[in-house]
Amino acid sequence: MTSDLIQASYIAATVLFILGLKSMSSPRTARRGIIWAGVGMLVAVVATFFAPNMTNYLLMVIAVAIGATIAYVAAKRVAMTDMPQMVAIYNGMGGGAAALIAAAEFMHPTTTSASFAILGVIGALIGSISFSGSMIAFAKLQGLIKKSFLFPGQNIVNLLVLAAAIVLAVFVTLQHTGHLTGPNGLALGLFFGLSLIYGVLMTLPIGGADMPVVISLYNALTGLAVAFEGYVLGNAALIIAGTVVGSAGFLLTQLMAKAMNRSLGNVLFAGFGAKGGQELDEAVEGSMKEMAPDDAAISMAFGQKVIVVPGYGMAVAQAQHKVWELAKLLQDKGVQVKFAIHPVAGRMPGHMNVLLAEAGVPYDMIYDLDEINGEFPTADVALVIGANDVVNPAARDDKGSPIYGMPILDVDKAQTAVVIKRGRGAGFAGIENKLFYADNTRMVYGDAQDVASKLIAGVKKV
Ligand code: NDP
Repeated sequence: MTSDLIQASYIAATVLFILGLKSMSSPRTARRGIIWAGVGMLVAVVATFFAPNMTNYLLMVIAVAIGATIAYVAAKRVAMTDMPQMVAIYNGMGGGAAALIAAAEFMHPTTTSASFAILGVIGALIGSISFSGSMIAFAKLQGLIKKSFLFPGQNIVNLLVLAAAIVLAVFVTLQHTGHLTGPNGLALGLFFGLSLIYGVLMTLPIGGADMPVVISLYNALTGLAVAFEGYVLGNAALIIAGTVVGSAGFLLTQLMAKAMNRSLGNVLFAGFGAKGGQELDEAVEGSMKEMAPDDAAISMAFGQKVIVVPGYGMAVAQAQHKVWELAKLLQDKGVQVKFAIHPVAGRMPGHMNVLLAEAGVPYDMIYDLDEINGEFPTADVALVIGANDVVNPAARDDKGSPIYGMPILDVDKAQTAVVIKRGRGAGFAGIENKLFYADNTRMVYGDAQDVASKLIAGVKKV
């Protein structure tokens, strides 16, 4: 294959990546988008085998076989709730690969051009930080690291480590005219070591529940690193795909932070979100009023409109199939059923959309916050399934609340709010929720899947 054909294949691959990404922006076309992007990746990998001066075919085949096998098995086995840590691992690998390309280029330079050295070293710094940071993010989400490490002066220590890495980056860039061996090789090693340490230090203090935002940021950084190394390798596919991933990642990070009403700085440096899932000690006036599943079923079956609000607890319980079965039964009884999705319900963007799509809920029954919020006063029942923070009125009414300003689903404005949760467990923000104590709220305690089964049985009896 000539060099022109290879470049044409890379351009074709990037077009497929961009079309794939565009399709992923809607649940209706997301599956097609994944396939297009996958085909794009296949084209890019195959084209690379025909690149001039390529000799390491055996190593390449072995690497592709190992990577493909691990990815296939992992993707088949991973539970939906573990998806964020899977993204963290894959993302980290991308950053690590970009850093390794730079390391190889610095140890055996193919050019002495200053612009190559500068972009290469920036890509190496960002890629290394993204790699080690993503590994810590993975360990936190997987429960391997349970604590958030906070100590006085932490931000200053982090800044010093980053500054030292940048000084070494400048040194490495200046030495780029020859092979980086001997003392220069040591500087290169130290540069990578400090960059990796910075990624670890930056991620350790951040609360486990904030990890999806951090992973999205690292995703963006990996994209940037890949684009820089694409320039070093003269590979158009890497440059364009890296830039697209980088900008998409930054946009997603911004959107997530906005939907939580937090600044990115607050997510990265405030150590917030480390308390998710704890039992609460806070006292709230009033009492939680329990309701039997059968009674909840009756109030829904005799209503005209039910709005279902899923949250993280539905994902934990894997209750989406039962919830859809319940919705269909209610529809059969003439009840209008709608699903309301908050942009940060669950633990990753689109978490609830993916679960509901998996269960077969039609897209035209699923509404975004802006579309549905005005409808809660006309709903007989708002059925909250394992959601907490995204329906907490404190975000709207209590200026002192840590989540004040976050847009919420106005579940408290429904005639009756029926809340399914296991007990007094907090949501991600670790704060009390007055909705649960409101006069028009009824609690149905239990695992979301068990309760959904009981509600199904209850509706069938009506
Ligand atoms: P929350 O985490 O606020 O609350 C989940 C609730 O589900 C808990 O109160 C828990 O109570 C209950 N629960 C847990 N397991 C079960 C179960 N098996 N059956 C029934 N209930 C269960 O969830 P939300 O979806 O309301 O909010 C998401 C939060 O995550 C927001 O604060 C958001 O900012 C944050 N976040 C979201 C991200 C995203 O991209 N989506 C990213 C990062 C953070 P109990 O223990 O009593 O059962």
